[in-house]
Amino acid sequence: MSEPPGRVYFVGAGPGDPGLMTARALELIASADVILYDRLIPDGALDGARDGVELLYVGKEGGGPSADQREIEALMLASARAGKQVVRLKGGDPFVFGRGGEEALALRADGIEFEVVPGVTAAVGAAAYAGIPLTHRDLASAVALVTAHEDPVKGEQALDWPALAAFPGTLVFYMGVRQLDQIAERLIGAGRAPSEPAAIVERGTLPDQRVSHATLGTLAAVAAERGVRAPAITILGPVAALSEQLAWFAPGVLAGRTVVVTRARAQASALSERLRALGARVIETPSIRIEPRAVTLPSIDEFDLLCLTSANGVDLLFAALAQAGRDARALAGTRVAVIGPGTAAALAAHGIRADVVPDRFLAEGLLEALESYDTPRRALVARAADARDTLVEGLRARGSEVEILALYDTVSEPLGQPARDVLATCDYVTFTSASTVRFLLAQAQPGPRARIVSIGPVTSAALREAGVEPHVEAGRHDIAGLVEALVDDVARKPAGES
Ligand code: SAH
Repeated sequence: MSEPPGRVYFVGAGPGDPGLMTARALELIASADVILYDRLIPDGALDGARDGVELLYVGKEGGGPSADQREIEALMLASARAGKQVVRLKGGDPFVFGRGGEEALALRADGIEFEVVPGVTAAVGAAAYAGIPLTHRDLASAVALVTAHEDPVKGEQALDWPALAAFPGTLVFYMGVRQLDQIAERLIGAGRAPSEPAAIVERGTLPDQRVSHATLGTLAAVAAERGVRAPAITILGPVAALSEQLAWFAPGVLAGRTVVVTRARAQASALSERLRALGARVIETPSIRIEPRAVTLPSIDEFDLLCLTSANGVDLLFAALAQAGRDARALAGTRVAVIGPGTAAALAAHGIRADVVPDRFLAEGLLEALESYDTPRRALVARAADARDTLVEGLRARGSEVEILALYDTVSEPLGQPARDVLATCDYVTFTSASTVRFLLAQAQPGPRARIVSIGPVTSAALREAGVEPHVEAGRHDIAGLVEALVDDVARKPAGES
């Protein structure tokens, strides 16, 4: 039985700011079976992908030989033929210097269906974030998008320099930061004025975007002096000078910092989003995955206390209730205690307000908080199969009869090479649970300059046990507390120090 062929989606991921990804892009990433992605896609672009998605990195390293184009096309074809939904994710727009055209032709030749989802191309994104209107009623009525080295073999021969020099409008050069001297020389040679304003935008739309101002005549010298590096675009035309008045984009407090989030993919987004909003470059390296167990629910109303120790536990408990044809009312007669605000929030999302939330978000804190209530006769602790026993033992020591409802297992998720590379070079690695510590450190070690941030004492103890001393421990043991502690650490350690 052969599957009907799948479809390939050429998806533009925008220039770098994750907020510039289209709704359609996010939707397709979330439902893809296979994602083939390039290097220049926004941090976190793949975070919404589902568990079990096949992620294939097919990018090329800056200036290096391009990944074998035919190999990429063969991969796409094979996946589509196997009936899979394939997302071919590209930086910016897939049909602007992205080889999307070539790849689409290959699919057409093979009769594979495809769709194209446009993205904000680098010229448009970087210009906007640099405060450069690409057109302006008095200054520019046309824009040309140009690549200086479209094909390393063809080289710049392909460009008609006199025509470009005579172009009546703004010129935007993609790629080719190393050829800026030649570009300027040719344009001036062909009659473009050396005094014409120019701007180089590096890492446009990203929190560490840098804009350098020059004229066509000083372009190469300015690029060399400032150590301009890819990815960058160069904007040439009178509009480039408007940036001095129109610049509006300010880097965040974590700009220029690479922060690794080690939580399971499904839980990482809240932390990642907060860090990104502060300008950090966030990389998720999930080393664990939550694997729900098939559970038979006991009747909760036979317990006078229900303890929930994680948001996962809450969601899975409600999933199990739903499956049994029940809902939140099953908890009506039982006191509900949670370990921290994240768990409380997950519970609130199901319509239940936690009766007990400790001040210290630990099993010890919960036991302490429970002291002001009558000792429960029967308690149900719903949690991960491999969780700490502190809570259970503490309750038993008080004479409660405790039943454990193991809702899920925490299993290892293998780290790919990109994750290992980023761990070796990042500024911060954040740990939010003892299990992420154990599963991650069993696979890789953070590099020497990485500062280790722990959410609280239990996580810190697991780190020390694995031979890693945390540099920072959050005062409040939740996501907000962890981010606060990290930001404080950055404030104490200005960029450049490590
Ligand atoms: N399809 C992409 C372009 C890919 S070619 C698009 O539509 O944007 C890669 C080149 O795009 C880089 O060499 C650089 O010139 C430019 N580029 C990509 N992202 C950029 C960014 N964030 N800031 C500046 N230039 C960028």
